[in-house]
Amino acid sequence: MKKELQLFIPAYIAFNESLLKEEVASELSLKPSDSFSIKLLRRSIDARSKIIKANVKLAVYINEPVLPDNFEINYKEVADAKHVITIIGAGPAGLYAALRCLELGIKPIVFERGKNVQERRRDLAAINKEHVVNPESNYCFGEGGAGTYSDGKLYTRSNKRGDIDYILKTFVYHGADEMILVDAHPHIGTNKLPHIIANMRQSILKYGGEIHFNSKLVDINYKEDKISSVIIERNQSRVEHLCSHVVLATGHSARDIYELLNNNQIAIEAKPFALGVRVEHPQAYIDKIQYSCHTFDEVIEKRTYLPASSYNLVNQVNNHGVYSFCMCPGGIIAPCATSQKEVVTNGWSPSKRNNPYANSGIVVGLELKDFEPYKKFGALAGLQLQKEIEHKAWLLGGKTQTAPAQNLQDFVNNKLSTQLIECSYQPGTHSVQLKEVLGNMIGSALQQGFKLFNQKMKGYVSNEAIILGVESRTSTPVRIPRDKETLQHVQIKNLYPCAEGAGYAGGIVSAAMDGVNCINAIFKML
Ligand SMILES: Cc1cc2nc3c(=O)[nH]c(=O)nc-3n(C[C@H](O)[C@H](O)[C@H](O)COP(=O)(O)OP(=O)(O)OC[C@H]3O[C@@H](n4cnc5c(N)ncnc54)[C@H](O)[C@@H]3O)c2cc1C
Repeated sequence: MKKELQLFIPAYIAFNESLLKEEVASELSLKPSDSFSIKLLRRSIDARSKIIKANVKLAVYINEPVLPDNFEINYKEVADAKHVITIIGAGPAGLYAALRCLELGIKPIVFERGKNVQERRRDLAAINKEHVVNPESNYCFGEGGAGTYSDGKLYTRSNKRGDIDYILKTFVYHGADEMILVDAHPHIGTNKLPHIIANMRQSILKYGGEIHFNSKLVDINYKEDKISSVIIERNQSRVEHLCSHVVLATGHSARDIYELLNNNQIAIEAKPFALGVRVEHPQAYIDKIQYSCHTFDEVIEKRTYLPASSYNLVNQVNNHGVYSFCMCPGGIIAPCATSQKEVVTNGWSPSKRNNPYANSGIVVGLELKDFEPYKKFGALAGLQLQKEIEHKAWLLGGKTQTAPAQNLQDFVNNKLSTQLIECSYQPGTHSVQLKEVLGNMIGSALQQGFKLFNQKMKGYVSNEAIILGVESRTSTPVRIPRDKETLQHVQIKNLYPCAEGAGYAGGIVSAAMDGVNCINAIFKML
């Protein structure tokens, strides 16, 4: 017999298998002779009260075996398929687009400017240790896109844009832990993502799709409203590739793509985005606040059964939103520049979230009116602002990947930090007044925002915390406009602007869903 149960119980029970089984047995008044197994269906933490609770939904199998989920993926052999779709970029959007092609019997041909996940590792080490940024292979570019060495948090608020469950199950099919189907805030971790991404590549190749690395889109040939071919640069030579449909999934850091479209008078438009800093606290410090502990000993006790805590903060300051972005409990701050003369931060964490630090982007939402001083750059106005601030971070940070930084309380009090505290950012930090990097408007909004956050999380502003600049690749400052129904570019009908780089996604899951949506839209037209 199978029964479903919803429990609201202390977290120390929810996270301990034998205590949880005892709770279930008592809840269902099971006899000692009953043999039963439990399968978690959903789990979330409620840390609002002194005794931290968890909401747990589970299936109980009494005197019968646990049944596996019946999730099937039917990929078809597509090597000689009638229809072929060209996909530019192998981030979450490009990979999920390619996998969707396999289900529909379409052959995907993917061009990716970067290297495969294994080869990419060396370039990440070079950024961290030697301050050398390879513009084709870094934290943003390469197989799996910005998603591969990302934190791998898989929650999204975009539940109307597609089937989240399908995206998560496809991750599980390719090797992710089934717990991502259970946790309210699923997370994979940087250590596990590359293997999963490589498995996705294997699926694409096994069923007859193509993936070409070190292959960058550098030009397009189009007449009136149709692209006839794309020009791909590989090993310094250029090859023309004929195409009938092009999914453009190049992510928010492919500035050359925006310039290519702009130079060809293909419609793009400026888009609001957000910019700020990355803040880092000791994880125990955040746990103490979030888990309402009086002492660090209490934190240690609670962490025996609770995960590293996170937070989500938002406030309005002078008509601008100031908010936390991509919070990484137990994480590391990463250097995410895509060219040499800029400094860009982001964060990741391993699957166990067991690093001693908690980091998060804290950013100010920028509107089109904020790009006014850059209006001569037209659709690229926001991009220009983003570029200039990233370059300034590089200049003031010391012209390497060392990040300009300030202890948090000092930043709020406009004081240069005489000694920066230690932090996880491997290329190092250099003490500056971060307002000089960010400019007065963004700097003041952040100072005010931090003060308001400190009212919500007492002790958040402290010199136990440090901020680094700049957190600037939150989303794209450029939109590539498309028709709402057909998803075709408003001007070029066989071009499908896709996911984050085109302004239609923010994060791994929503990007993956948009990849799927673009292929579904093309399939309807075939
Ligand atoms: C350190 C870090 C941590 C993150 N953590 C999270 C997280 O926890 N959760 C989350 O949801 N999101 C996270 N993100 C954001 C997430 O990775 C992105 O939202 C997501 O990857 C966007 O997917 P995409 O496919 O649209 O673009 P991208 O992932 O940016 O992929 C675009 C791909 O296109 C390729 N490309 C670009 N130009 C060309 C060209 N001219 N020719 C050929 N190929 C090209 C690039 O090399 C890249 O591989 C993180 C990002 C970073 C950098």
